[in-house]
Amino acid sequence: MDLQNRISILTRGAKYDVSCSSSGVERKNVGGMIGNTKDCGICHSFTADGRCISIFKMLMTNNCAFDCAYCANRRSADAPRASLTPREICELVVGFYRRNYIEGLFLSSAVETSPDRTMELLTETVIMLRKLYGFNGYIHLKAIPHADPALIKRAAQYADRMSVNIELPSERSLKLLAPQKTKESIVRPMRLLARSYLEEKENKRFTMIPAGQTTQMIVGASPDADGAILRLTQNLYRIYGLKRVYYSAFMPVGNPTSLLPAVPAILLREHRQDQADWLLRFYGFDIEELLPQGANLAEDVDPKSAWAVRHPEQFPVEVNSAAHEQLMRVPGIGATAAWRIVHARRYGPLDFEDLKRMRVVLKRAVHFITCRGKYTGIKAREPESLRAALAGRNAQFTMHNAQLRTSQIGMFETDSDAETGLSVLTGQL
Ligand code: SF4
Repeated sequence: MDLQNRISILTRGAKYDVSCSSSGVERKNVGGMIGNTKDCGICHSFTADGRCISIFKMLMTNNCAFDCAYCANRRSADAPRASLTPREICELVVGFYRRNYIEGLFLSSAVETSPDRTMELLTETVIMLRKLYGFNGYIHLKAIPHADPALIKRAAQYADRMSVNIELPSERSLKLLAPQKTKESIVRPMRLLARSYLEEKENKRFTMIPAGQTTQMIVGASPDADGAILRLTQNLYRIYGLKRVYYSAFMPVGNPTSLLPAVPAILLREHRQDQADWLLRFYGFDIEELLPQGANLAEDVDPKSAWAVRHPEQFPVEVNSAAHEQLMRVPGIGATAAWRIVHARRYGPLDFEDLKRMRVVLKRAVHFITCRGKYTGIKAREPESLRAALAGRNAQFTMHNAQLRTSQIGMFETDSDAETGLSVLTGQL
């Protein structure tokens, strides 16, 4: 098969992996090497379906010995197969970089022959890229479950970021849908990478995965509830210091098996998981406050609004005197706006016009704040009325996503959902 066809198969095979994003790594070009990385993020362009495009994102091979039911590359799938050698990948990356097509590489792989052999080839590729081709650009590399830890650690010395995809949140779902994988086979490399990253940090060296590690979970392929998925997420952030957990709404691909739902998961569910994830990372929420283990996130309102509606006793708060932590819990006041408020009110009391200028979403926030003692939200402040007021503006968005089950949330959709679409990218809630 010619090179172009192989590239086409292998890039298509990688598109369902969403575990890449801005790197956070800044590295200048140095003499004798080519490329650099920007801390503002390599993945700064998005395709229509929301996937980033400035990284050359591909598989080394899609010829898999494993048979994960949700995967288009599984052994039993009726799919054309292709592979590239480490040298072919290096030639492509450097060639594309020189033409200014890409800024970095996201390299993943199916498990060809064995996990160790696959990890060996991935490691050989990154070493060759760095040492032989002098490529100094961003590299995100997959760690293969069951592979020898020594190989993974060696690869980590040459990659900026690594990821092991958890995909499914429970051992039971793994057994059913990914029988060759175990929780331990996924957690072990994660633990190893976390330790290596911490050691480097303590020694003030950043030669090993300076951009840390990420993972991905599929939403809706198994019966696992959002509560279970987000509890695992919180543990991953706290125990392994992951930089980001990505969520991917399940989509039946290839010739789907009867073990899986026949229809795709709605994208709104993926979006709500993302919003809850931001609350765990940046807004000081604990998963126990957001939802029980076996529950799913609400569709009609975002998780921060849902929490605020359940806690009317905590509102309204006076924006001119509330603590920063209280402001962060007000629906419509994002992390950036909360800091702006705290900073600006040192120079005098703020009014609603000031809040608007600070990008506070007043349509939501007015029900939870007073400004100079004035309250302009709904009069009946019982949970049902508050929820109806907040859900009203989301209703169109919910319908839109329920109907277009496979379309991605646009960055600038109709007026009513523009903010919701944007919060996917900015995390402002
Ligand atoms: S190991 Fe599983 S998820 Fe990975 S490529 Fe193979 S079948 Fe797909």
